[in-house]
Amino acid sequence: MYEAATAESVEKRTGAHEVGHMAGLYHQKSKDSRNEINIGVNNLMYVYGNNGNSINIEQLMDMWKRVKEQQDEKEDK
Ligand SMILES: [Zn+2]
Repeated sequence: MYEAATAESVEKRTGAHEVGHMAGLYHQKSKDSRNEINIGVNNLMYVYGNNGNSINIEQLMDMWKRVKEQQDEKEDK
């Protein structure tokens, strides 16, 4: 039962992590130099960390900025 719950949470995290990539987020700086945002070991995008789900305000602002840019591009057409 414990193992099943753990596997499920890993799948959920993996899904959310991939959505993070789709939204333009990167792994921690030491793994990906494109990342300009400092993230901790409990962050959703931190690999080989604590498998955490936290996300910080800078990441949220970064995602929002990208969505906004795409919306603005659509409106220009
Ligand atoms: Zn990843």
